Amino acid sequence: MFGHPVSHSMSPVMHNAAIEHLRIDYVYVPFHVLPAALERAVGGVRALDIAGVNITIPHKERVISFLDEISDQACQIGSVNTVVNRDGRLSGDTTDGPGFVRSVEAVWGAIDGARVLILGAGGSAKAVSFALARLGCRLVIANRTRERGAELAHSLMAAFGENAARSVGLERDELTREIEDADLLVNTTSVGMSPAVGGIPIDPDLLRPGMMVYDLVYNPLRTRLVEEAESRGARAVSGLGMLVYQGALSFEMWTGAEAPVEVMEKAALGHFNCR
Ligand code: NAP
Repeated sequence: MFGHPVSHSMSPVMHNAAIEHLRIDYVYVPFHVLPAALERAVGGVRALDIAGVNITIPHKERVISFLDEISDQACQIGSVNTVVNRDGRLSGDTTDGPGFVRSVEAVWGAIDGARVLILGAGGSAKAVSFALARLGCRLVIANRTRERGAELAHSLMAAFGENAARSVGLERDELTREIEDADLLVNTTSVGMSPAVGGIPIDPDLLRPGMMVYDLVYNPLRTRLVEEAESRGARAVSGLGMLVYQGALSFEMWTGAEAPVEVMEKAALGHFNCR
């Protein structure tokens, strides 16, 4: 993994547990790569014949210019989190959006064509919304900075057609209207994340019984949004599943082996609980 910082990451624990479980000859190592050293670090993947790397903040966009090719889905969102070394040719892909979808499907089953209200319009919102639009979901992007939300909605419309997305602000009256129609609410903002535990991105009284609520925040494991949603009869999960499934998909690209998802989840949880 190349990132700046990397010391907080759960990925090494998760991947090394999977490697050990399958008894295969790999090791997952976090490398602290400063922005100025990114190009040389990517050259090191070729020079050392490393099987692949995860790319994390702040390198996910800039790494693209140092790779030989990228997948269509990485190109659409302009972000790479997984690099695979194929005989010296470096291919970039993104497993963030597909990992989110796999995580949702593991809990609630297929969501093709669902109506989804997405809170936030940053990097993770982009990954998640493109993956959902690919499944024919109809999206409403609600963001604090309206222009940023509108920009994301426009890029979704350009890729998937006029009906794929709209954008609104985070004001209560707008959200009241939008949440009425939503099957799934996804929080991609950082509101509620440690250390500001207790924050919530939406008035909890707007949450409806039966709706699905997915909070990308996984620290804490149970966010206030998840607790408020459950207490109102909604079905809610936080973001650990996305973290595990994006890792599982990267693992499968590098090793060709089926990722032991439960082993990875258990390792991530164990790491989380003993920090
Ligand atoms: P980002 O690109 O910085 O985007 C942050 C988003 O949050 C923006 O839409 C921003 O709105 C909004 N926001 C921030 N503070 C806010 C506030 N006080 N009120 C309302 N909106 C606010 O961040 P990101 O990379 O998308 O990550 C967002 C969260 O997702 C983080 O908590 C991260 O840990 C989590 N995440 C989880 C996973 C996973 O695997 N579970 C993966 C990726 C990210 P503006 O545009 O108005 O600034």
